[in-house]
Amino acid sequence: MPALKLCVLSSEILPYAKTGGLADVAGALVPNLRRLGHEVHAFMPLYSAVHAARSELHPVPGVQQLPLVIGDSEYRFSLQSASFPGTDVAMYFIDCPALYDRPTYYTNDPDEHRRFLAFTRATLESCRRLGLAPHIFHCNDWHTAFLPLYLKTLYASDPLLSRARSVLTIHNIGYQGVMPSAAAADLGLEHPESWLDADDWAHGVINPLKTGIRFADAVTTVSPTYAREICDGPLGMGMQAILRSRKDPVVGILNGVDYKDWDPRHDPYLTSHFSPQDLRGKRKNKELLIAATRLEPAVARPLIGMVTRLAEQKGIDLLFDALPALLQECDFGLLVLGSGDPRYVAFFEGLARRFPARVAFRLGYDEALAHLIEAGSDIFLMPSRYEPCGLNQMYSLRYGTIPIVRNTGGLADSVQHFDARSGQGTGCVFNDYDAPAVRWAIETTLDWFALPNTWQRLMQNAMAQDFSWTRQIVKYDDLYRGMLSA
Ligand code: ADP
Repeated sequence: MPALKLCVLSSEILPYAKTGGLADVAGALVPNLRRLGHEVHAFMPLYSAVHAARSELHPVPGVQQLPLVIGDSEYRFSLQSASFPGTDVAMYFIDCPALYDRPTYYTNDPDEHRRFLAFTRATLESCRRLGLAPHIFHCNDWHTAFLPLYLKTLYASDPLLSRARSVLTIHNIGYQGVMPSAAAADLGLEHPESWLDADDWAHGVINPLKTGIRFADAVTTVSPTYAREICDGPLGMGMQAILRSRKDPVVGILNGVDYKDWDPRHDPYLTSHFSPQDLRGKRKNKELLIAATRLEPAVARPLIGMVTRLAEQKGIDLLFDALPALLQECDFGLLVLGSGDPRYVAFFEGLARRFPARVAFRLGYDEALAHLIEAGSDIFLMPSRYEPCGLNQMYSLRYGTIPIVRNTGGLADSVQHFDARSGQGTGCVFNDYDAPAVRWAIETTLDWFALPNTWQRLMQNAMAQDFSWTRQIVKYDDLYRGMLSA
């Protein structure tokens, strides 16, 4: 099969910038597509923090200080490049300090939409300058969702780009990038309203994600269950009709796990490694974790871990009722690492004050602690209201840290409820989005934990799961080839 030229665009790509699962996935797509033999080019904005941390970047000749007009402003952008670690993939960064020299990757600044329109336009312009004619542009989330429309308008008669196809992957349909229709001139289109959703236009808004869904040649999302959920019901967050109106249905491809980073046999963040055959290191990690978080040193007590954005999506509301009561009735420890909504921060801080021996809360983003929580906890809690794919439940399985998950999205596709009689299953799956359901799930899992043979079986089942990218990446390959032969 001939190799394809692929161009991947993402607002965050590991190892350069990460705020969530999008970075993990984009950072895995790039080397794994290359491993299939494709010619891969990846683009992301050059945020100031990335620029400061990466001395290996070098300017790309011929793509320096190019003008880029967005609405009534003229920006200048340059292209910087490096090899994606461990590969010969060209990783390109759009350097435009006026837009990306900010304290955070994402902002609430009034020009936020411009930052990503500029990223999208600058990527297309860079391809032109580089003489790069990709077969496929693979866009991710709302940030780059205008690219499919640009291919069909601004670049429709471009000799280099007019034949390119576009894929849009939705990592989380809750983020749509909605902007006021007053910003229409920023799109750079003649008669923009003729391309945009009429209803939105009438309501004074422009929806980048919806535009992408409408004009992309293929739309994918990150698990088969989430693909169904966003087409069929409220989890589509207003996109159900437009998704269902597509000629080709949304394709659900479960994310993979990068076991180079997330495997207790060789996790670079751990000092004690372990495997299904030798679990002694797991206990050592639990001791380290307990010591690091100053919980009462009771290693036999079941320890529940959470690593999460503290956002409504993650189901923290369910815990408001469930956890205080459970902590009074049952003997378990709880360790939470996360940042986000002050309401949830206050909740976990309050819980840690009330149960200081058994509850610890760490506010912030801490990659090393996230790995130690996966390695040292017994149970991982993910009660999400919705979860497009979710990565931590899959990481947890590999570390023998039994996931408690709600039956939604990628959680449903990756965790199988344990049946103590048959000994089959990998975690605890609950259905209803309410406090009694999560209480039931935690109590059930603690009951399993109390039976050493049952728990051993559950851990062995969990650790035997394989969600490697090698299995998943071929599904993207099939998709691309199908699109090009259609
Ligand atoms: P989402 O993208 O919705 O946040 P995912 O489960 O898909 O959720 O991916 C989250 C990723 O971000 C995981 O790799 C997880 O370990 C990481 N993560 C989330 N919060 C933190 C944190 N506070 N510290 C370290 N890593 C975190």
